[in-house]
Amino acid sequence: MHFDLDIDQGGVMKLRRIQDLDMRGKDVLLRLDLNVPMKGDEITDETRINAALPTIEYVAKNSRRFAICSHLGRPKGQPDPKYSLEPVGSRLAEILDKEVVFFTDYATEPTKPVLDQMTESQFMLLENLRFHPGEKLNDVDFSRRLAAGFDCYVDDAFGTVHRSHASVVGVTKGFEPDRCVAGFLIQKETEVMEKLISAPKAPFTVVMGGAKVSDKIAVILKLLDVCNNLLIGGAMAYTFLKFNGASVGSSRVEDDCFDLVESIYSQAEKRNVRITLPCDHTAASEFSETSPAVEVNEKDIPPGLMGLDIGPKTIEDFSRVIKASGTVFWNGPMGVFEWPEFSLGSCGIAKAMAESSAETIVGGGDSVAAVNQVGLAANMSHISTGGGASLEFLEGKALPGLRVLAF
Ligand code: ADP
Ligand code: MG
Repeated sequence: MHFDLDIDQGGVMKLRRIQDLDMRGKDVLLRLDLNVPMKGDEITDETRINAALPTIEYVAKNSRRFAICSHLGRPKGQPDPKYSLEPVGSRLAEILDKEVVFFTDYATEPTKPVLDQMTESQFMLLENLRFHPGEKLNDVDFSRRLAAGFDCYVDDAFGTVHRSHASVVGVTKGFEPDRCVAGFLIQKETEVMEKLISAPKAPFTVVMGGAKVSDKIAVILKLLDVCNNLLIGGAMAYTFLKFNGASVGSSRVEDDCFDLVESIYSQAEKRNVRITLPCDHTAASEFSETSPAVEVNEKDIPPGLMGLDIGPKTIEDFSRVIKASGTVFWNGPMGVFEWPEFSLGSCGIAKAMAESSAETIVGGGDSVAAVNQVGLAANMSHISTGGGASLEFLEGKALPGLRVLAF
């Protein structure tokens, strides 16, 4: 299901925008991605809340009344206190200096009477959307109940625009198309990604890593059309190295992906893209956090060892290319960054990007976590809040949540 991106003369996707919607005297339903990491009742990372603030504040200032809705975690289509949005509501109330009206019964009770009782100093938060099976099923009745009582719909949940869920897609049927608009975060995310594939400043370097070639093949092929360098690390690198005849020991290899690797090389040759693989590794005898790190100072990994991170020479090579780039896009950690001994590669890439004067963009849940781990998020030009959504956007897929906001 591929389509050419809806790009107009200015290179901008034609989304209906929040700043073009007159919401004076209107009641607004605001879909956000408040899927923040939690430890018990405590929010451990507020990145997603902060990313949503410009839109929340704009809606708070310009609308009559508003309700926020979001998912959190993976409850199984039924209420589960572990995934309640209540702590998020309390935090929002603090930040916005407003009182939260927490509404749980919206799937069975009408929202309107509750809205009608709200004062100016209040906002509504709907309990976790995924407590209801209708959310993921994009159920017509659930969608209608979500929309009922509101005049406009604002979506700023970039992290879910690739999902055909009720609060993303179905709900828009309850409004006139021109009353469904994109918030500031969706606009920013799509602008950055669009620029990346339409007008990146050269040289454009793509750094790819992570778990699997098969997960990333579509986005790699797409980026080969526009990039100059492709640096490959992570588990993915071993499939490439083995394809080239190197020894990879017991590293993770996807033997069924050699034809994909071949297609990447042939596309790279056509497009004159230079592909660089690791020339040394940090390895271990087994896949375990406590297994001691062993330096392998050459491309070939001896039997009995598996590559769990790129080595120091590779970090240096990759960093040099990154620093000489005009644009860098990074997706997928260079190693098992969750384990300190195998996190140096990802840490090194994050540092090189932070020091580079290039436009630097990081997408992908784990890659963003790796950047946060070393505290360098603020040094990047853009950190995508939506891992899956940003990759699918770059692949050129039609994202259902954007379709419903487009002209
Ligand atoms: P992202 O979420 O940024 O798109 P992925 O989900 O594709 O990244 O991959 C992240 C995972 O890949 C991490 O859990 C990391 O531990 C794993 N990984 C990276 N390098 C290796 C390796 N050499 N061997 C095994 N797993 C790896
Ligand atoms: Mg991941």
